[in-house]
Amino acid sequence: MAPLADRFGRRFPYLRLSIIPACNFRCTYCLPHGYHAAAGAAAPLSLAEITRLLRGFAVMGMHKLRITGGEPSVRHDLTEVLRTAASVPGVDKLAMTTNGTLLSRRLGEWMDAGLTAINVSVDSLDRAAFARITGHDRLDDILTGIDMALAAGLTAVKLNAVLLRGVNDHELPTWLDYLRDHAISLRFIELMQTGDNLAFFRDHHVRAETLETELLDAGWQVLPRAADAGPAREYRHPDYAGRIGIIAPYSKDFCAGCNRLRVTATGDLRLCLFGEFGIPLRPLLQDDDQLDDLVRAIGGQIGRKEQGHFLHEGRTGITPHLASTGG
Ligand code: SAM
Ligand code: SF4
Repeated sequence: MAPLADRFGRRFPYLRLSIIPACNFRCTYCLPHGYHAAAGAAAPLSLAEITRLLRGFAVMGMHKLRITGGEPSVRHDLTEVLRTAASVPGVDKLAMTTNGTLLSRRLGEWMDAGLTAINVSVDSLDRAAFARITGHDRLDDILTGIDMALAAGLTAVKLNAVLLRGVNDHELPTWLDYLRDHAISLRFIELMQTGDNLAFFRDHHVRAETLETELLDAGWQVLPRAADAGPAREYRHPDYAGRIGIIAPYSKDFCAGCNRLRVTATGDLRLCLFGEFGIPLRPLLQDDDQLDDLVRAIGGQIGRKEQGHFLHEGRTGITPHLASTGG
């Protein structure tokens, strides 16, 4: 079957699947009041539903899968989800984005189940600032988990840090000390506006280009973009073991290389993180015999994917916060 492609010629080998909207953290830019389930909210997809969903996407050329949330490790059967995902024919990269709270305890189990890469969100290396941002004083344990992941032979270990004006945007020197001997890729993510965070966004949004100027001044060099690269602009420096990636969703042409689709924890296909609609796939995940219908439904919707997001106009679509969509 021909791989899934949209009307702008973009292909989608990469799926980001949220497996739970709940989270144990209260990040100021995401869930400042913690997670509260809406009354009557549907349960997350079951293992059987996830298996059928992934088989459908794999038939259409998906081979890289990222498990996200909410916080995926809040889900008690996470290891089973990973094992199931890894067993789907065609899936050759199984990554997860996590806040790292269970990393030091569960890494071995997750790797045995088939996890090949991990992104851990660490917005600050300052213990007090980390606790202020996330609501939890867990930095030391999370850093231990990251060191374990680096030693364990995953194909990629990355850190995500959201840039926040007046909160962590002065911490580049601390990060550089860390990267000197940590062979890790650190991603600075520009804060994105979502439905719920407008006031916070106005106070704390800072353009990633400001940081890139600092990096260039310090001798970091931007790497040529690989054909299948994600949205990050990658920098390296000969004196540092680690690399830095910049994810700047407000920069020109950010969406031109979009290669991913998203499915929420309850099975809604989202063509864009900031789209205006979700496409409910769950009714097509109830029986193994529905595979063809599922594939047809996904293929029939891909033409609705827009060329880019409308964040510059402050249009955040139906995404109240990224925990709801799977950031
Ligand atoms: N709970 C997991 C975690 O934090 O890694 C996975 C889900 S979280 C929604 C995925 C990523 O989105 C995290 O790196 C988080 O920092 C980032 N994120 C959340 N809200 C954001 C926003 N408004 N702007 C930019 N990045 C955001
Ligand atoms: Fe939870 Fe991740 Fe959102 Fe922080 S960014 S509140 S860890 S979902």
